[in-house]
Amino acid sequence: MNVKELLKGCQQSKSAVLATNFYNLETLQAVMRAAQATKSPVLLQLTRSSIDYMGLKNAVVMARQTIADYGVDGWIHLDHGGSVELVERCLDAGFDSVMIDASEEPFEVNVETTRRVVELAAPYGVNVEAELGYVAKLGQQQGGGFTTPEEAKLFVEQTGVDALAVSIGSAHGFYKQAPKLDIERLAQIHAATDVALVLHGSSGIPHDMVQSAISNGIVKVNLATEIKDTFMRNLKAILTTTDEIDLRKVFPKATDAVVELLVEKYKMVKNL
Ligand SMILES: [Zn+2]
Repeated sequence: MNVKELLKGCQQSKSAVLATNFYNLETLQAVMRAAQATKSPVLLQLTRSSIDYMGLKNAVVMARQTIADYGVDGWIHLDHGGSVELVERCLDAGFDSVMIDASEEPFEVNVETTRRVVELAAPYGVNVEAELGYVAKLGQQQGGGFTTPEEAKLFVEQTGVDALAVSIGSAHGFYKQAPKLDIERLAQIHAATDVALVLHGSSGIPHDMVQSAISNGIVKVNLATEIKDTFMRNLKAILTTTDEIDLRKVFPKATDAVVELLVEKYKMVKNL
């Protein structure tokens, strides 16, 4: 099965796949352990900064080998590809799915850039995700820029994109105020187009709200901030209680906390 088929299957069963970012071996293993425990497929996401941190080939080899070791269904996805050049590098490196994010550009430029990536990705048969409307980046406020059903329909028709990240009230990073998803808008977008809909910025959104989004067309739920936060918060707490210098004895405790978090998130998307 490839990612396009995975997302199509989710559309048919009104379910979603959790797409998790990873940053190092520990967070990668945490994803795998939680996926194995909940019998979930994994969609492993890499951003440009994670690629720069780990190295493109290293990250891919590590992800592929870990998928094989844990015996789960797994794929590698480029999250927020900010340039066509980065997308090309990832296609050549064997990614199963890529996102081109030109959401901050005018509509026509977003269409043009996304269409270019759809063409480039076609020979590889990989899934292509784009973003329409604006999901606030880390440290920014969500100030409007919500996706409209009309634009979504037009965008999908003009680009041929497989998956679309929509702006319906979520934001990247943590929320200062309780997030509220515009489920009605989502339902209208879902009715207007059969593209696979993606929810970015799920960290901190109440689980029942995410489930309501899944009932109304979301098939891919992205999770990043809570993974980093859980690892670092627990690591900090552990370090205040020990002088242990062997990181191989300290890191696993922080990893365990991430596994616990992710088990709950996999249950969330399975509606358990
Ligand atoms: Zn995102």
